[in-house]
Amino acid sequence: MEARDQEKSYDPAVAESKWYRYWEGLSLFRADPACPGESYCIVIPPPNVTGSLHMGHALNVTLQDVLIRYHRMLGKNVLWLPGTDHAGIATQNVVERLLAGEGVDRQSLGREIFEERVWKWKEESGGAILNQLKRLGAACDWSRERFTMDEGLSRAVREAFVLLHRKGLIYRGRYIINWCPRCHTALSDLEVAHVETKGWLYYIRYPELSGTQSVVVATTRPETMLGDTAVAVHPGDERYTGRIGVTLRLPIMNRPIPLLSDEMVDPAFGTGAVKITPAHDPNDFEVAKRHDLPAVRVIDDAGMMTGEAGSFAGMDRFACREAVLESLRKEGILIKEEQYLHNVGHCYRCKTVVEPTESIQWFVKTKPLAEPAIRAVRSGETRIIPPNWERTYFDWMENIRDWCISRQIWWGHRIPAYHCPACGLTMVEVDAPDRCSSCGSDNLRREEDVLDTWFSSGLWPFSTLGWPDRTEDLSRYYPTSTLVTGFDILFFWVARMMMMGIEFTGKAPFRDVVIHALVRDPKGEKMSKTRGNVIDPLELMERYGTDAFRFTLLALAAQGRDIRMSDERLEGYRNFMNKLFQAGRFVRMHADDNTVRDLPPERSAADRWILSRLQRVIDEIRKGIEEYRFNEASSAFYQFTWHEFCDWYLEMIKPSLQPDAPAEIRERQRAVLLYVFEMILRLSHPFLPFLTEEIWHSLPGERGSILTEVYPVADPDRTDVDIEKDMGHLMEVIRAVRNMRSELHVPPAKRVEIRLKGQSESLAFLRDHEEIILRLARAERVVHREPEYIPVEDATAVVNDIEVCLPLAGLIDFRKEASRLRKEIDKANAEHSVVCAKLGNDKFLANAPGDIVDAHRIRKGELEAKLGSLSRNLALVTRYLS
Ligand SMILES: [Zn+2]
Ligand SMILES: [Zn+2]
Repeated sequence: MEARDQEKSYDPAVAESKWYRYWEGLSLFRADPACPGESYCIVIPPPNVTGSLHMGHALNVTLQDVLIRYHRMLGKNVLWLPGTDHAGIATQNVVERLLAGEGVDRQSLGREIFEERVWKWKEESGGAILNQLKRLGAACDWSRERFTMDEGLSRAVREAFVLLHRKGLIYRGRYIINWCPRCHTALSDLEVAHVETKGWLYYIRYPELSGTQSVVVATTRPETMLGDTAVAVHPGDERYTGRIGVTLRLPIMNRPIPLLSDEMVDPAFGTGAVKITPAHDPNDFEVAKRHDLPAVRVIDDAGMMTGEAGSFAGMDRFACREAVLESLRKEGILIKEEQYLHNVGHCYRCKTVVEPTESIQWFVKTKPLAEPAIRAVRSGETRIIPPNWERTYFDWMENIRDWCISRQIWWGHRIPAYHCPACGLTMVEVDAPDRCSSCGSDNLRREEDVLDTWFSSGLWPFSTLGWPDRTEDLSRYYPTSTLVTGFDILFFWVARMMMMGIEFTGKAPFRDVVIHALVRDPKGEKMSKTRGNVIDPLELMERYGTDAFRFTLLALAAQGRDIRMSDERLEGYRNFMNKLFQAGRFVRMHADDNTVRDLPPERSAADRWILSRLQRVIDEIRKGIEEYRFNEASSAFYQFTWHEFCDWYLEMIKPSLQPDAPAEIRERQRAVLLYVFEMILRLSHPFLPFLTEEIWHSLPGERGSILTEVYPVADPDRTDVDIEKDMGHLMEVIRAVRNMRSELHVPPAKRVEIRLKGQSESLAFLRDHEEIILRLARAERVVHREPEYIPVEDATAVVNDIEVCLPLAGLIDFRKEASRLRKEIDKANAEHSVVCAKLGNDKFLANAPGDIVDAHRIRKGELEAKLGSLSRNLALVTRYLS
C-alpha cells in the first residue's frame, strides 16, 4: 500500500477545487482597510460581461495573482478588486443577435423593454468569465466585485460627467464623427479599425458654370459628390493660378459651387483639386468651417442616400456609388479610373465601413486633461513598464484629439442631460431635475444618448473604491499600486484612467503600469478565429493542471517579447509539477511531527551549500517579481528546485536520512531538509498556488494556509561563497565521470576507479567529501595521483586545475566499443553530409522557412561536436587494441 502510494502523481483537478473553496471559506482574499500593513492594491482590468476566458486574460490574471499573493506574503494589506465591464456596443450586439433569432428587433421592443432584456441576459449569462478566473486561482476579493453599470458606479459616472461639464471640459456640438450605419452609433477615433483596401480613384470633370474651362477632381468616394459644396486647391498650386474664385457646376446636381484655395489640400494628390463634402469628411468639415461653406448631408444614419441626393434618394450608399459612376460615364465626364490602395475605416465591433457623418454629439475636451497625465509619467509618479511604451504614451497624449463620448445605442450610462423643449435649455445634473431652471416647464426630455463604455472604465480605479464618497477603501487603497494590462488598451483605457484619475482625485491612479505581451500560437502566429488557431486556456488547465499552465505563462513572460504557447513547454512544466510533488512525498516520508522546524546550528557541507544557494535564489526571485521580470523569477526557481535541490541535494543527503545513520545526524538532516523544502514551497506559492497548498498540508505539523506564511527573506549570513565554489567543483568532477561513462558505454552497474590528478590543496575538499563522489559517480575508489602522472590509457576530462581520469581496462570490451564507435561515426558523417548539402543549396535556403534553416544550422554544429568526441573516444579505445 505504502509503496504504491509513493508512485501516485499529483491530481490537479481534485486539489484545485478543494483549495479554492478552502481559501474562500477562510475569507483569505477579503481585504480589511482597518488591518495594519502598507496597502497594496490592484484593480482588475474588467473583462467584458460578454467575455469568456482567452489566453490574454489568462496571462493578465496570472501575473496579477502572482503580485497579489507575493505582496500578501510580504505582510502588506492587499486588495485585488474584481469586476466586469458592461461593454456597451458589444453587449447590445449580443442581445440583438439573440432577439433576431426570436424574430424581433430592439426598435419594436422599445428602449425600456430592451434594457430589461439586456439586464436579464446579464443575470443569466453575463460574467461567466469570473468563475473562469477562479479556476486560474485568482485571489480576488469577491465581496467587492463591481460592475460598471451597478448603482454606485453609475452615480460616479453621472458625478464625473457633471463635474467635467461644469468645468467646461464636456461640450455638445455639431461635428463630424465616425458613424457606424450598422450599430447606429457614433464611434471614437480609437474604435475605428483602418484596413488597407484595394479601391479605385476616380477622376471627374467639374465644368465652369460659364465658360469652357473645367477642373478635374480625384476621389475614392464618388457618391459623396452629391453633397459637395466646393472644390479646393492648394494656394501655391500654379496649375490653378488666376482661377481661384470661379464658379463651377457640380455635375449631376447642377449646383453652383466655388473653386477656393486652402492649405489643407495636398497638391501631390490626384490633380491637386479636391471636392469638398463638409457633411461626410472630417478634413472637408474643417475647410467648410474656415470658408463658411454649407454642409449637405446626402447619406443618412443607416447608410442610405437622403432626399438631398436627388434622384438617388433611398439608395444604399454603395449601390449609389455605382449609379453615380454610371451617370458620370454617360455624361462623359468620368475621365479616368485608376486602382488605388487606401485605408478604409471599419467599425471595430461589426466591421461595417464607417461613414464620417456630421451630427450633434458630446465631447470631452482632452488637452487640459492630458497635460497633467503626461506630467505624471514624466515625473515618475507613474512608471510604465517596460519603459519603451512611455514614448507611445507621450506621442498619443501630446497629439490627443477631443473625445467623442456619446453613443446612439441603448445599453450604457445615459448622459445626465435634460432638454427643455419650451425654452431650449439643456441642464446637466447628477439627479433628474423636476422642472426647467429657466422657464419652469416640467416637460423635460432626457438625453437619449449613452456614454462611450470607456468613459465609465476610465473611472474604474476610484469609482470601484467608492468615489465620489470619501470611503475608507478609497483613502486606504487609492492610488492603486500596479495595473497589469495588454498594450492594445493603452489608449482606450490606461490613458483615460490617468486623465480622469488625476482630474478627480488629484493623484495618478497607479504607481506602476505593467504592459504585457501577446500570447501566440506555437508558430508565433497571432491567435484568431479566422485562422482557427485559438487555444482555449480552460482546455489547457484541464489537460495539464492550472499550476503547470500558469508556470508556462510565467516562464515565457519575458518583457517585450510575445509568448509562444506550445504543448512541449506545458508538458515540461507538468513534469516539473510532478517532480515537486514527488519531492514533497520524499520529505513527508522522512520528516515527522518530531522534526524540528528550525535550522540546527551544525550543518554538513551539502547543507551549507544548499542554504547558500537558497539565499541567492530568494534574492533572484524577489527581484524578478518586483521588477516584473516574471520569466527570470520562475526560471531561477525552476533551476534551483529541479537541478540543485532535487538532482543534487536530495541525492547527497540520502545516507544521513537512512535508518542506520546516527540518530543525531538523522534528526539534524531531517530538520534542514524540511526547512529548505518549506522555503521552496513558500517561494513558489505565488506561481503555483494549488500545488504548494496541497504539499504544504501534507507536511508534518499544524498548518494553516501557506498564503498566510511569510515570504522568504535572504539571510546574507547564510551565503557562503567558499562552499558554493567547493561544491561546484565537486559536482563538476562527478559530472565529468558520468559523461565519460555514458560516452564510452560503461555499464551503469559497473563500479569504476577514478584517478584525480592535481595539486594537493585543490584536491583537499574532494578528499574530505569522497563519499559523495563514490556514491554519485558509482566508483569503487578514488585514487589521488601526483601531478607527474601521465594517463596514457585513461579516458580523461579536465575540471579547473584537476584532471579526472577513468582507467578503462576491465570496464568495457574494447573491440566491441571500437566497432560501435565506428558505426556511430559513419552514421553521424552520413547525416552531416545531408545537412551540409542542404545548407549549400541556394534553393533550399531561399524557400525553406527561417526556423527550418536555423534548425539545420544548429544540427550541423551538434553533429560536428559529436563527431569530435566520438573520434577522440575511438582513438582512446584503439590504443588498447594495438
Ligand atoms: Zn458597427
Ligand atoms: Zn425651459
